[in-house]
Amino acid sequence: MKEEWPGAGGLVLNEPLIFEQGAKGRKGYSLPKLDVERIGSESVWPRKLIRQELEGFPEMSEVEIVRHFTRLSQWNYGVDSGFYPLGSCTMKYNPKINEDLARLPGFAGAHPYQPEETSQGALRLMYDLERFLCEISGMDQVSLQPSAGAQGELTGMLMIRAYLTDRGSPRKKVLVPDTAHGTNPASSSLCGYQVMQVKSNERGVLSPQAIEEVMDEDVATLMITNPNTLGLFEEHICQVADIVHQKGGQIYCDGANLNALMGLTRVGEMGVDVLHFNLHKTFSTPHGGGGPGAGPVGVKSHLADYLPVPMIIKGGDRFQFNYDRLKSIGKVRSFYGNFGVLVRAYAYILSLGAEGLRRASLIALLNANYIRAKLKDHYHLPYDLPCMHECVFSDRWQSKHGVTALDIAKRLMDYGFHPPTIYFPLVVHGALMIEPTESETKETLDQFIEAMVRIAEEAEAQPNLLREAPHKTKISRLDEVLANRKPKLRWRP
Ligand SMILES: *Cc1c(COP(=O)(O)O)cnc(C)c1O
Repeated sequence: MKEEWPGAGGLVLNEPLIFEQGAKGRKGYSLPKLDVERIGSESVWPRKLIRQELEGFPEMSEVEIVRHFTRLSQWNYGVDSGFYPLGSCTMKYNPKINEDLARLPGFAGAHPYQPEETSQGALRLMYDLERFLCEISGMDQVSLQPSAGAQGELTGMLMIRAYLTDRGSPRKKVLVPDTAHGTNPASSSLCGYQVMQVKSNERGVLSPQAIEEVMDEDVATLMITNPNTLGLFEEHICQVADIVHQKGGQIYCDGANLNALMGLTRVGEMGVDVLHFNLHKTFSTPHGGGGPGAGPVGVKSHLADYLPVPMIIKGGDRFQFNYDRLKSIGKVRSFYGNFGVLVRAYAYILSLGAEGLRRASLIALLNANYIRAKLKDHYHLPYDLPCMHECVFSDRWQSKHGVTALDIAKRLMDYGFHPPTIYFPLVVHGALMIEPTESETKETLDQFIEAMVRIAEEAEAQPNLLREAPHKTKISRLDEVLANRKPKLRWRP
């Protein structure tokens, strides 16, 4: 392995638990001596509210505390430390200017109960962001409220259910392709629907025939992802949407893969009735640590009355919240959405502009196709077609040597790369789903490709090396089920 590659070097520091450090009486602060009379705390607070002892509480100096948390943070891997090709997640670099703007005191300190007159800037930002998302997607109206893609799905399905109920019946079933993300069937079931899986064809997409066969007046919705989780453009989406609409159904589009489409095409023009956005994927909010995110939902005008309350409306040059919407499905969360995430998305969109967003998508497509073309002689490519923003390989060739997608992913860590998504989408046995995003340089992509090629060679020559990988990380192969159920937080060399 080349010395200059990213990955473990000499100074990867160990760190015990905070409770094992420090010494009695040691302090992380210095204050002047008390020069007024000390008042016993019991004369101020009821005794039962006062903690009597702090057994084992760490007592540390300032530098010990700074080092403790800095070292722990350095054990974490993020987009700012290196390449993060986790498919479906769009782990792009998040420009730091967006962080600065989200921290502007007027935004960061805004209170949700503040009167509308003093929140005009925040309201305008949200109003404009809704318009930007409409423009990018071709939808007619957007609500910024849902906190994640999955909640956007639920919100969208609730709206479709309300709309269909008003037209006579909510219907019973939802069609979901076999390539779908697990949240799609989950949201449909939560909404009271029976999920019917539809098989994608040999090109990895939905065929009009497959939909024709199952579409009837019991079907409320087809949930489709475009591009789908194989990174392939649903080439028959318009025809498929026609078939569903003719039988009175609606089209829900999972917009998690919007990073492939910005400025290139608009799902609103493909027959889609409802779409969610994942602002934390496409529009540059740090994610992966469990949130916060934002999953705004966009609709065509026939569904606009059902959007959650409140909506932001503009009268003259004033903005206000409107709760007075009879058909609305109601509130889907507290207040108005994860505002800090909205600020980042707004800043990201404005700083790139229309042409910048288009270029971002084009480069994301170029990078994914570069990886696809460079690796397809080394890894089995189940759908050998040009891809959109991600490509899906399988472990078929390596599995002949007893090496699995998991082994390949673990070995990548030895080469200093975060593994790609594995074992998803489910239609590909032993899937390796790689999404490079637009923010990587050619040098980084080439290093990653070289590491993947070497791993393919190792799979033939030294399969055991892979089966026991990773070797260079602090902890080698874990029993992952046990590690989840009974996490051992204390690390010993
Ligand atoms: C990430 C993702 C979701 C769910 O979005 P969250 O914001 O994580 O709730 C749904 N569908 C696809 C295809 C995704 O990649």
